[in-house]
Amino acid sequence: MKILTGLMTFALLSYPAITWGFTKDFLQLDKQSATKDQQTKHLKSSLTGSPKQLKVKVFLRNFTEKDTKKLNQAVKVLNTVMNSEEFKKAVLSYTFKGETRFHKNNGMSNEEILNHLMTGAEDLMPEVDYVMNFDLTLYRSLNPWSKVKGYTLPDTMRIWMNKKYYRRSSWTKYDVAANMAHEWVHKMGFGHAYENNPDRPHSVPYAIGRIVGELGKKLDF
Ligand SMILES: [Zn+2]
Repeated sequence: MKILTGLMTFALLSYPAITWGFTKDFLQLDKQSATKDQQTKHLKSSLTGSPKQLKVKVFLRNFTEKDTKKLNQAVKVLNTVMNSEEFKKAVLSYTFKGETRFHKNNGMSNEEILNHLMTGAEDLMPEVDYVMNFDLTLYRSLNPWSKVKGYTLPDTMRIWMNKKYYRRSSWTKYDVAANMAHEWVHKMGFGHAYENNPDRPHSVPYAIGRIVGELGKKLDF
């Protein structure tokens, strides 16, 4: 009974803290732009990839020279992995609950997911340009306990990355590449539950992020 009471107290106490942390992360945006920023003009360029070569284009906000150096290394990893045969194989053969599929796959087969990702046609930039478009902002959370590494919102191309994690030396270029892939997959129309659960790691954003991180370490030397 004592243990039960203890657990209940913890649950009651921790709930507002989590809510607060969540809200603060989403409010702590830089002043240059409102939350609802649907502009994509600044992301468009003459850069185009090809059906065989997906390219990565980044637009950076609040990045220092050192931050940019790390980002460029992560972009190299992402480029290498996304265009590798190993990546294609990993996506095509992905299984969830004994079936060849992803969790929350929007009704798409693994092959359809791979083909869609390789078009670079984000929901808000739907032209097939074979470019992964990134609009990245480094932010500092007001909540010192925040565990949010990065996030995005459905109505903007912008992706926010938490400085606290980004600047750690233990947060490698592979982690950055994996995080970028996760957030970009959201831009490609795939989602996952907010709360963690046993299925969530198999959602398209989490699975693709993990594949990119693992293959990055394997392929990039
Ligand atoms: Zn996510």
